[in-house]
Amino acid sequence: MLLNLNGKNALVTGGTRGIGRAIVEALAGAGARVAFTYRSSTAEADALKAELEARGTEVLVFQGDAADAAHAEAAVRGVLEAWGSLDVLVNNAGITRDNLMLRMKEEDWDAVIETNLKSVFNFCKAAYRPMMKQRGGKIINISSVVGVMGNPGQTNYAASKAGIIGFSKSLAKELGSRGVTVNVVAPGYVATDMTAQLPEAAREAMLGAVPLGRPARPDEVAAAVLFLAAPAADYITGHVLHVDGGLAM
Ligand code: NAD
Repeated sequence: MLLNLNGKNALVTGGTRGIGRAIVEALAGAGARVAFTYRSSTAEADALKAELEARGTEVLVFQGDAADAAHAEAAVRGVLEAWGSLDVLVNNAGITRDNLMLRMKEEDWDAVIETNLKSVFNFCKAAYRPMMKQRGGKIINISSVVGVMGNPGQTNYAASKAGIIGFSKSLAKELGSRGVTVNVVAPGYVATDMTAQLPEAAREAMLGAVPLGRPARPDEVAAAVLFLAAPAADYITGHVLHVDGGLAM
């Protein structure tokens, strides 16, 4: 009952694969109507839409770059026009452009900050007024254990993910009196395309430091997002929920 999202409308950025896709499936499984955004993988987006609709979920899909404010506004407006409210916003879209600071190019810094952090600003800004007027809403931003602990070769990524935490706590304080909660999920090492790019040695080193001794599955991150999106978490705001097998404690 407390994890039921029947009648709720959700929007997830970067929903076609990895953690985003697992979040879309978890929210749909709990009964929500689900909108998701994607940047380029139209075939994957179409397939996911068809799969969800076959299971009886109402779905909306928006193509665009999450770093583009006009795209964020259009997606939020699209959900409001079709379904009347936006109850759950999950900012999941993210990239890495790893390199030691010495060799990091300015464009790698800009791309990561724009995609990972500015996108969160864009979608939260678009959802701010509607959620305030509704006097309710759940915003969940996907950070990373790297934003808490740091990681060599990821100054840009760590800055973006730490930025999400400070941003979310500030927004939680702004919107609390309106019944809107803002929380963060900080995954550790999750088996997705993003971590498949890591060199074997880096993966082994990271796993060696995980008390549970294995990577997370995307659905284990999605379960934490579902909890924060559901009535079960009505009294939780400004929180950073680690889903990292004990890596950061
Ligand atoms: P992924 O690369 O498999 O998926 C990322 C998703 O974001 C894709 O759907 C991609 O299309 C989308 N995306 C990227 N740039 C976009 C843009 N500009 N506009 C719209 N969509 C865009 O990665 P993932 O592992 O599923 O990561 C999802 C989120 O979780 C990211 O924010 C990532 O930083 C975070 N995270 C991942 C891990 C991990 O170990 N995989 C750990 C901690 C945090």
